[in-house]
Amino acid sequence: MTTPEPTARRDWRELARRLPAAAGGVLVLCPMSELTTLRIGGPAGLVCPVQNVDAAQRFLELSDQQRLPWTRLGGGSNILADDSGYDGLVLWVQTRGFEVRRDAVRVGAGWDFDALIVETLRLGLTGLEFASGIPGTVGGALVGNAGCYGHEIGGFLAEATVLRADGRQAVLGPEDFAFSYRNSALKDSGDVVLELVLALTRGDAAAAGQCRAEHLADRRRKHPWRQPSAGSYFKNLPPREPGGRRRSAGELLEAAGAKAMREGGAAVFSRHANIIVNTGGASSCDVLRLAARMKEAVREKFNETLEEEVRYLATPGASRDPA
Ligand SMILES: Cc1cc2nc3c(=O)[nH]c(=O)nc-3n(C[C@H](O)[C@H](O)[C@H](O)COP(=O)(O)OP(=O)(O)OC[C@H]3O[C@@H](n4cnc5c(N)ncnc54)[C@H](O)[C@@H]3O)c2cc1C
Repeated sequence: MTTPEPTARRDWRELARRLPAAAGGVLVLCPMSELTTLRIGGPAGLVCPVQNVDAAQRFLELSDQQRLPWTRLGGGSNILADDSGYDGLVLWVQTRGFEVRRDAVRVGAGWDFDALIVETLRLGLTGLEFASGIPGTVGGALVGNAGCYGHEIGGFLAEATVLRADGRQAVLGPEDFAFSYRNSALKDSGDVVLELVLALTRGDAAAAGQCRAEHLADRRRKHPWRQPSAGSYFKNLPPREPGGRRRSAGELLEAAGAKAMREGGAAVFSRHANIIVNTGGASSCDVLRLAARMKEAVREKFNETLEEEVRYLATPGASRDPA
């Protein structure tokens, strides 16, 4: 890949004008801090709302013609964006179809995940209530196999329609995703999930509603609601024995003294040692430095290596050295 020019030297407005009107709504040099829940990140060249497959294909054509890097974005709730921004196209998935087929729903990947849970429960379709309160889109949840309370979204997937990097559409089954803990083959494949079918159950809606209420209350107790964050920064550690439970990264971090740590505007959340909050004006460097200290503390105390769950977004080839 050619080394991209710095954002300031490209005429992003001119590039935006080359897009057909049908692909409208493009944001020029929109700060990633406005599109991510951590509220950090410099300007992205073009942020392209993808409401249908045609728009997605046009954006990919532009990136191909102009040899621009591109990336995918949902709700921005699992991303740390670099302060220097992203010199390329951000495909912001906003597909919003909704159709019920017996006990399954076919939905656009741009649906807000929690709003989808509310809607399916309203229709008497249960299964997703475990995930109540997870921010972001259903497409982002699928790609990261989002989960909590012992369940993961991957277990509900029947099929997904994706757009490949070469502009072709494909229908994938769960086996193509190769789901594992907070991971799927699509994290790094570059496929854009546009639509998916989730297999649900016509179950006890009252019990599911109760489960939702309990999970939301639990989240309100444990997670930051006022301060920007991206949820758990590190993945839980693999079990010691096959079939055992994952070990909580938060507990290890707490025992290693992480709750007292802070770098610039980034701090470890007072009620959960695995969450980094932006206390105001934090830079991506602040977060990277803090995360490095947290990792080092766990390595020193427990000889364990934590792996990041939050995805770092920077222009390909740009340095991620926080120094
Ligand atoms: C307060 C808080 C609590 C959280 N709790 C949980 C939790 O309990 N469990 C959990 O698993 N996560 C949790 N998270 C993390 C986050 O909400 C989830 O990972 C969420 O599913 C990410 O979805 P998103 O749409 O925001 O994805 P984004 O952050 O936009 O993107 C994440 C990754 O997915 C890719 N992507 C996004 N959309 C698509 C698409 N349509 N097609 C292809 N690739 C795509 C992006 O390129 C990126 O690599 C929490 C976050 C916060 C802020």
